[in-house]
Amino acid sequence: MVLSPVPLEETLVCRTHTMLKDRMRADLRVYRGAIQAMERSTGKAFDKAQKLAEIARICFEAARDRLNAHVSSHQCEVPYVG
Ligand SMILES: [Zn+2]
Repeated sequence: MVLSPVPLEETLVCRTHTMLKDRMRADLRVYRGAIQAMERSTGKAFDKAQKLAEIARICFEAARDRLNAHVSSHQCEVPYVG
């Protein structure tokens, strides 16, 4: 049994990483919700939902980019646990 050369505590407890990932997931939920609203609506409501979905997509992509930038500079990727 060979232990990882990187101390587990350091790789598993990165508050910034956790915070950025939570933020990204929250933005993704908003984006998915906006797309579902688009699928349900027509006319003006559709236009409004489409604008919201576009904004949500930009927020999600920005959150994802922040997480990726943090992971590449901090080397703190942790296993995805759901
Ligand atoms: Zn980190």
